[in-house]
Amino acid sequence: MKLELSRVVQGCRRGVLTGLGRSGGHSLELPGCLLYTRCASVPHLTHDTLHNLPHLPTVTQISLDSLAEHQEVLEEFREGVAKFAGLHDTVLFCSLHDLATPRPSGYNTNKTVSVWGSGGRIELSATRYMALQAAVRPDWYQSLADGETPPSASRKRARKAVDRTLTHLDECLSLHHQTQELRGAEIFGVVEGGDMLEERVRSARETAKRPVGGFVLDGFHSDAMEPELRGQLIAAVTKELPEDKPRLLLGIGRPDEVLACVEAGVDLFESSFPFQVTERGCALCFSFSIEPDPESAVLERNGPQGDGGGPGVRGATAQNHPEQMTPFEMNLKDKRYRDDFRPLVVGCECYCCRNHQRAYLHHLLVTNELLAGVLLMLHNLAHYCGFFCALRGALESGRLQALRQRLLQGEGGV
Ligand SMILES: [Zn+2]
Repeated sequence: MKLELSRVVQGCRRGVLTGLGRSGGHSLELPGCLLYTRCASVPHLTHDTLHNLPHLPTVTQISLDSLAEHQEVLEEFREGVAKFAGLHDTVLFCSLHDLATPRPSGYNTNKTVSVWGSGGRIELSATRYMALQAAVRPDWYQSLADGETPPSASRKRARKAVDRTLTHLDECLSLHHQTQELRGAEIFGVVEGGDMLEERVRSARETAKRPVGGFVLDGFHSDAMEPELRGQLIAAVTKELPEDKPRLLLGIGRPDEVLACVEAGVDLFESSFPFQVTERGCALCFSFSIEPDPESAVLERNGPQGDGGGPGVRGATAQNHPEQMTPFEMNLKDKRYRDDFRPLVVGCECYCCRNHQRAYLHHLLVTNELLAGVLLMLHNLAHYCGFFCALRGALESGRLQALRQRLLQGEGGV
C-alpha cells in the first residue's frame, strides 16, 4: 500500500492510495469513504443491485461484532468473509464495532474487549481477536482497542484507554506476524484518549512508533464531543502522525462534519450516515454542486427539498440518534410528497431517480413495502459518494470555501 499526496491545502489532504488488497490491484481516492455493510452486505441491497451504482468505494467495511458469533463457521469455511458473503472484488476493512448500532458499555477490562452479537456478549482477548481476524481474512483491520471514553470519563480513564489500546496493539502485531492467513494484510493502530489533549497526543505518538499500515481515530463521534473540540483534538492528533499513512475516522458521517474533519487532516470516513437516513424513510437532498447551472439552481430553490426538517432540526448534530433527521435530507413520509412527481433529486443519475418519483417512494413508505428501503439506499449511497467526489474536486480547484457555504446553505432550506 502506498499513499501519494497530490495536494495539501490548509491541512486538507488530496491524494490516492495505491497497491491495495492482497493482489495490489486496487486504489482509493482521498479524501474518501468506505462502503458500509452489515454482516458483509450493504443493507437492503444484493451485490448485483449495489453494483448498478457507479463510483462505489473500493474498500468495504465490515465489523467484527456481527461476525464474532460465526467464528466456527468461518474457520470451517477457511476462505474468508469476502468469499463467504459473495462480495465482488473489493478491499476488505474489518473494524471492531459497528458504530451505527448502539451497544452497552462498561465491559472492557485490561485483558479483554466485549462485542455484542445477536446472541449476546462475546468477550475478546487479543488472542481470540486475532483468531477471529484469521478466520475473517480482511485486507485491512484495526487492532483491538478500548474506546470507552465518554465525555464523563476521567483523565485516569482516558489514560487507561490509551495504555490498554497500546498493549492490545503490541499483542496484535506480534500475533499478526505469526498468522499465515493474515500475510499481506495491514493492521491499523487505534488512537484513543477521549477528550484529553495530552492523552490524544500521547496515543498518536506511541501508535506512530509501531509498524502499522494506517491509523483509526476512535471516540470522536457526535455524541462524544462538541464539533469545535473535536476539530482541535483531531488536528493535534494528525500533526503527530506520519504523512504517508492513511487516517480513518470512525463515527462521523454528516457532510458538514466530514468537511470539518478533512480540514483537520482526516482521509477516510465510514458511510453509515446514508444508511441511517434510509432507515428513517428519508432521502439525502443537500446540494454539493459549487458550479450550478442557473436552471437547476432555480429548480432547487423552488423545490420543497431541504425544508422538511422544521425549526427543531436546524443545526442538530445527532448522527448517532438514528431517529433524528438532519438538515441534509427530506422526509418522504411527509404528505407533501403524495403527488410530487419529480425524482428525489433533479439531475441525480442513480437508479431510483432515473426511474421513480417522490410520490412513488411516499407510497412505498406508507404501505411499508421493503422496496422503499432498497430504492432509498441506492439513492442515498449514490448521493453520498457524489458528495465525496465533489469534495475532492473542490480541494483540487481550491474551492473548499464555496463547498462549505453550499452545505451550510442547504441547512434549514435551499
Ligand atoms: Zn438519486
